[in-house]
Amino acid sequence: MKDYKLNFELVPDSCWYSNLRSVLTSAQWGALSRHVRALAGGRCMICGQPSSRLEAHEQWEYDEKNAVQKLVRVVAVCPACHAVIHIGRTSLKGDLRAAEDHFMQVNGASYAEYRAALGKANEDHRRRNQVPEWKLDISALSQYLG
Ligand SMILES: [Zn+2]
Repeated sequence: MKDYKLNFELVPDSCWYSNLRSVLTSAQWGALSRHVRALAGGRCMICGQPSSRLEAHEQWEYDEKNAVQKLVRVVAVCPACHAVIHIGRTSLKGDLRAAEDHFMQVNGASYAEYRAALGKANEDHRRRNQVPEWKLDISALSQYLG
């Protein structure tokens, strides 16, 4: 499996915190979001396209053995990349076709590769859903909040 620049990030259903907005105060989230968008300098940190609508996105790592959901970093992404990352949500209410095209374009991938990557993401998701309770590690936040 290739290591794609833009990939799906499916948060396990059993995670208490699927996003930082539920952990932080709105003032902290606002400061974090502004900080990350300023770092991005008007360009999506994944695909590199200029965007005036960058959105802060949390990237998590899952240590299944120890049941730890760990924050890796927060990035500023364009709406098109965000739609790919949250492909489940996008397929329910968004334009799946546009997300498929964006995945293939950013990664230089074929449709078959897109399907394979999605299959892998769904498989990871199902397996991680078996973990009854994840512990949260958000120590990476200190680099943003000071
Ligand atoms: Zn992007």
